[in-house]
Amino acid sequence: MAAIDASSAPDPLDGLLSRVPPALAPLARLAFNYWWSWQPDGEALFRDVDPERWASCEHNPVRLLSETMLLDRAAGSDLPGRSAAALARLEAELAAPAAPTAGASAERPIAYFSAEFGIHESLPVYAGGLGVLAGDLLKQASDLRMPLVGVGLFYRRGYFHQRLDLSGLQHEFWTELDPERLPMRPVRSEDGSPVTVRVALRGHDVALRLWRVDVGRVPLLLLDSNVPGNTPVDRALTSQLYVAERDMRLMQYAALGIGGVRALRALSIDASLVHLNEGHAALAPLELARGLRASGASFAESIAATRPSVVFTTHTPVAAGNERYEASDIRRVLPGLCEELDVSEDELFQLGRHPGAGHGSPLGMTELGLHTSRAANAVSRRHGEVARAMWQGFFPGRSRDEVPITHVTNGVHLATWMRAPMRELLRRHLGDDWESVQSHAERWERVSSIPDEELWQARNALRASLVEMVRRRSVRDRLDRGEAIDYVEAAAKTFDEGVLTVGFARRVATYKRLHLLTRSPERALGLLGSDRPIQVVIAGKAHPLDEDAKHFVQTIFAMKRAPGVGTRVAFLEDYDMDLARTMVAGCDVWVNMPRPPSEASGTSGMKAVLNGTLHLSVLDGWWSEAFDGANGWGIASPEGDDPAEQDRRDADRLYSILESEAVPDFYQRDPLGLPRAWLQRIKRSLVSLGPRFNAKRMLEDYTARVYSR
Ligand SMILES: *Cc1c(COP(=O)(O)O)cnc(C)c1O
Repeated sequence: MAAIDASSAPDPLDGLLSRVPPALAPLARLAFNYWWSWQPDGEALFRDVDPERWASCEHNPVRLLSETMLLDRAAGSDLPGRSAAALARLEAELAAPAAPTAGASAERPIAYFSAEFGIHESLPVYAGGLGVLAGDLLKQASDLRMPLVGVGLFYRRGYFHQRLDLSGLQHEFWTELDPERLPMRPVRSEDGSPVTVRVALRGHDVALRLWRVDVGRVPLLLLDSNVPGNTPVDRALTSQLYVAERDMRLMQYAALGIGGVRALRALSIDASLVHLNEGHAALAPLELARGLRASGASFAESIAATRPSVVFTTHTPVAAGNERYEASDIRRVLPGLCEELDVSEDELFQLGRHPGAGHGSPLGMTELGLHTSRAANAVSRRHGEVARAMWQGFFPGRSRDEVPITHVTNGVHLATWMRAPMRELLRRHLGDDWESVQSHAERWERVSSIPDEELWQARNALRASLVEMVRRRSVRDRLDRGEAIDYVEAAAKTFDEGVLTVGFARRVATYKRLHLLTRSPERALGLLGSDRPIQVVIAGKAHPLDEDAKHFVQTIFAMKRAPGVGTRVAFLEDYDMDLARTMVAGCDVWVNMPRPPSEASGTSGMKAVLNGTLHLSVLDGWWSEAFDGANGWGIASPEGDDPAEQDRRDADRLYSILESEAVPDFYQRDPLGLPRAWLQRIKRSLVSLGPRFNAKRMLEDYTARVYSR
């Protein structure tokens, strides 16, 4: 990977170093590697420079250090010493030898392709769970010193920001990211010139430049079409995540798949394995195969030769997530594809069609991924079953169980998602080395002997930070909308650190059934207004073109006029990783009500349980293999019913659990003020779920079941 090691050419880090006081040089160096974001003391290093600025620059350390006027004062504080110590740890980590994994080595890493990466809120090139999972996987690979490189796109306008108007209608806006003020650097060749690759789209070459983001030991390469010399349309190609315009999207997929493989080649990275995270990158194997055509192999032979080094993960059973393109679309957007591959259109398109599908039938990205990979996996046990049933027709002659799609259940990066009070508590009781054995069940058993009062203290601290944030953000959001002044202040006055807090936050997609929360308004109001009340925090973005989802948001929002709602329910705008971190940790109960079997995995619940939040969810996705009857609450929701009846029954169950189990257990206190039954449940949840749903276990499973041959 020599070519992508930072060269001595002028770059943004040098620029920053020349501007900060010398004592803060270590802090500037730390700013260019997201490693800080998951170290126990990492965030404090930047926050302590200037807490207000830190908040107002979206926790972007490069912007903070470029803008702040107070660096001289910071240079005179204890920050130089603390950052030098942190930098020494980072450098030691970077210098450690890689741990060879499943045939991958430092010379021949695994290349992980994904259309989105959720590394941190300051780099908004993710939309939701898929991206956050990809980010978590990169961080975990770094922690395991696994040789891996990420490949994605740099979306200059990121994902949209959300604002609601007075009627609860969602409005979207995009802000332009300035690459000069982000922790990323242009990739340069030996002579210092920026590295670009070219992909032919709509009949002409489009240049893509490369950025490098450091995620601990793992480099993430992002391709960017905003290059002088490209046409205005081409320059906008990678500007927005999941553009609605279908040709643009297909061009993005070509930039990612074909451009990504060319980028690796340009940097002399000879990947031992290419991992396609979802179908968006499914054109990559075609480009890998093209590389073999020069040696005289036929198209079929080159695909057969590349297949052993490609693996594929499917992430959703929802139809819209399994995109198909008409042959005419492919011809229009990638007119030279067959020629470049020296293959007939028929033979090429067969790769992306169901066996036996007619000539005119569309080409699917998931189909292409399945056909060109050696191994495929779904993302939970349940999703594995669903995916095998869904794709059975694709593997003629095989029974459902023989369909070659295994599963690796998702897991979340513990150090990113477990907040300080909990992480510190577990370190004290599980041992200093516990994070390095986080996938071992025995170690988590020590949770049982944590004194109840300490666990309760940690939970109270987490709830208090959430309540503080709700008070602050609800005022800001409501003021921005132009709400009446007493409503503006209502939540700020009444959100309470001692009240049972229920959270629901995710992309507002129809199958996630946000609307179940308001199905029984009387019961909801009863819970909010009781003398043992609950308070509710909701967040989530609807896809800009999803009118139904926007309508759900409005319906929830309309409830604000009911008595008690303005004071006990807060809808927080602009859900992102920052908001997610505080919400998953500070809520007492985390709710998920998908319509089975649409939730392939779900990961926010995993983040929640790591913090001692209890999960209350329909038995779908990860929860159907995780719930043991006592480590949270599960709602069985058999399929096949009339959907309205299913909604009614599931909502009824949700309210019953809250009314007759959660509320009594939470408010039942012993003479010391401790909710013993509640704490017992939390311990059970941590012991049974902690070792299983972290990203370390996930990568160990990938290594054993997918990466190894
Ligand atoms: C974890 C996360 C998600 C995914 O949550 P689900 O439970 O899978 O819906 C989405 N968005 C953000 C910002 C997240 O952090």
